[in-house]
Amino acid sequence: MAKTDKRPFRRPPPLVSGSLDNIRFDCILCRQSSRVNWYWPQWFPKESIPSNHRGYWVPIDFQNQCEHCQFPVRITAPLRDVKYRLNFHGDEAERHFRKNEERYYYYCYALAAISPNKRSKILEEITLLEQRATQMSKGRVSTLHAKDIMTDKLWPHDLPKSLRVKLIRDACKVIAVKEVSKFVFAGAARWSLVADQRRVRDELFSASFLYVLGFCTAQGIMPHFTFDLVKNNQKNGWAEECIRGIRYQPSFVWYSGRNHVPEPEFAKGASTLEGKVADILAYVTAREFDKTQSGDFVDVDSSLFGKAHFAGFDGNGDLQYGSGKGFPLRRVFGI
Ligand SMILES: [Zn+2]
Repeated sequence: MAKTDKRPFRRPPPLVSGSLDNIRFDCILCRQSSRVNWYWPQWFPKESIPSNHRGYWVPIDFQNQCEHCQFPVRITAPLRDVKYRLNFHGDEAERHFRKNEERYYYYCYALAAISPNKRSKILEEITLLEQRATQMSKGRVSTLHAKDIMTDKLWPHDLPKSLRVKLIRDACKVIAVKEVSKFVFAGAARWSLVADQRRVRDELFSASFLYVLGFCTAQGIMPHFTFDLVKNNQKNGWAEECIRGIRYQPSFVWYSGRNHVPEPEFAKGASTLEGKVADILAYVTAREFDKTQSGDFVDVDSSLFGKAHFAGFDGNGDLQYGSGKGFPLRRVFGI
């Protein structure tokens, strides 16, 4: 069969979480046991098709091959009983720095969701912080967007910067509750070409999407993703291509658990409550990295927003996962 889907896609990094690594199947021809090849490329992106009646036809299996006799097999993903929907918004932060005469690129991608029973309380507290920002900036900064809060020219000159950092610190404390799900991915790499930066970005974005999907469906939750629009209200083309690339992966079918995974939506950055939370997560984690690697005082750090899921590419390109308080800078970056 020839590959007929011509739409561009970006292949995700060759990663599977530990729980999938040992899954095996028996060959129907030679009867020997094989490990699932999670990188076996599929012919088509595994997309759901709207049904004429109600709901969707969803992909439930994927192509693989016996590692002994190369006989093609189809593997059916086990059902994951999904009962709830949860809205995740993603946001990014990036940094450029030099070390030992080399140029480095750092990228952080964060995703946030809020339990429905806590959402109005969080909204109320973030709104109070925004009212404080509006007063302090004399109306020039009215949304909790980390970049605006840290842009000097938007603020009165006589206002100490520490008061602005305090806004971000206080926002971290608001979201340091278990009802706010926080996923933070980060990686850094030496670069010479812009393509090197894009690779870091694409890999982290794809890894975070797959990780959150797998984590959520295992707990009966279907994540609905919303990502940032780039400039001029254009859709984020690279993000769409990453997601199409993910749909070629066996692990996508497995993590979907025979459920419809909706296409992501695109919104203006930090325009929703979840988007504001993701913005803070990415900004604070990137700032902490930046200050730590340059030996500066860290005035706001990732332990402030409480327990979160963290992952990062270490120097070998392996993804290190963990959850806890504070990004594991030493384990991932050795700093
Ligand atoms: Zn076989």
